[in-house]
Amino acid sequence: MKRSARRGPLPAHACRLTRRRWLASTLAAAAALPAARVLAEVQTVKIDRIDVFPLRYPMTGYFKFFAGAHGAAGRAAVIVKITADDGTVGWGQSVPIEKWSYETLEAATVALRDYYAPELIGRDAVDIAGAHRTMDQTIQAGFSTGMPITRAGLDIALHDLAGKLSGKPVCELWGRSPGGPITLSWTVNPRTPDEIESIMEEGRQRGYRHFNIKVAPDPQVDVELARRVRRAAPDAFLWADANGGYDPATALEVAPRLADAGVDVLEAPVRPNRISTYQALKRQGALPILMDEGVVSPIELEEFIRLKMLDGVAMKPSRCGGLLSNKRQIEIVEQEGLMWLGSGLTDPDISLAATLCLYGAFGLAKPAALNGPQFLTADVLKQPLKIADGLAHVPHGAGLGIDVDEEKIAQLSRG
Ligand SMILES: [Mg+2]
Repeated sequence: MKRSARRGPLPAHACRLTRRRWLASTLAAAAALPAARVLAEVQTVKIDRIDVFPLRYPMTGYFKFFAGAHGAAGRAAVIVKITADDGTVGWGQSVPIEKWSYETLEAATVALRDYYAPELIGRDAVDIAGAHRTMDQTIQAGFSTGMPITRAGLDIALHDLAGKLSGKPVCELWGRSPGGPITLSWTVNPRTPDEIESIMEEGRQRGYRHFNIKVAPDPQVDVELARRVRRAAPDAFLWADANGGYDPATALEVAPRLADAGVDVLEAPVRPNRISTYQALKRQGALPILMDEGVVSPIELEEFIRLKMLDGVAMKPSRCGGLLSNKRQIEIVEQEGLMWLGSGLTDPDISLAATLCLYGAFGLAKPAALNGPQFLTADVLKQPLKIADGLAHVPHGAGLGIDVDEEKIAQLSRG
């Protein structure tokens, strides 16, 4: 069969607004300012260049979000490299999954390279909130923040850059210490019931003691899965995630049965626009109800809390536009006395490092469903993240505390 050009990874691209063009506009603006302000402007470190590298990480095992022609080619990611005009570099990563959200590898690459990057070049490198306001104006919001998974890559790179410019780990930018290590949860997503025990055993062999199960749409299958996992792991934290896959009646019927089977929390039983069903599930009280899909900015999180739709949130910086948004969401949930769990989008190394920095800084207590280390078999770091015995250590050092190996990026980009 003829190979489709759409299928393969896109070539790496560099996006650069010319220094001459940026300088001309900056000098024109500076001419109208008082002398002291001009000096301050000149001394500010600016974003000089943004490079994006679309690629796919090789995978192992079965995970339903990576089934199909695109997913089978590997876990899509766009690595973002932001270079400041003093030469300092910040790294980030956008992690689109078309089976989880409408943001695809190709859409993320184009939005980063052709829309967001040209608007951010020339801006103050450490003004992360300002960069988000610029991105808000560049691609408009839908119900919430526009292209949040895509934007997370820029947000993470800006945090890394701000940390490196100040010589501090990202947690210190928030006035916090690194914390950690983070206990991990092993994902059990069997194609047939006879795979359950062997999947759990593989996790145990790697030192995992806690399990998260993927459920929906079939409640019979799900209750049996929960029973068997609970029987095999009586002391584990058992977390069921339906990814919005039940209809309202089934969600209300299955929640008490999953509780009886030994599940501890139920995440995303229905799609996030099923507001009245979330309210009914919370009133039912069979299990703590967590939201994931649909919680993007702090604004709808506050609205959903006010509407009494949830007992907590499965956090993930990669879903909600990055660290700035997710940090605020953790603060809101803690202020409201609700639960937060640490989750992710099968994050590869750079996005995972950012996630660990956030969860460690905020003292995540429960096992995290960060399953990048379970399913991904490559990295782009000079020193891989320290993950052993079911624990992920928070990287130390300026910024995200990681050293990116550009030769590894080139290898993965070639596919
Ligand atoms: Mg989830």
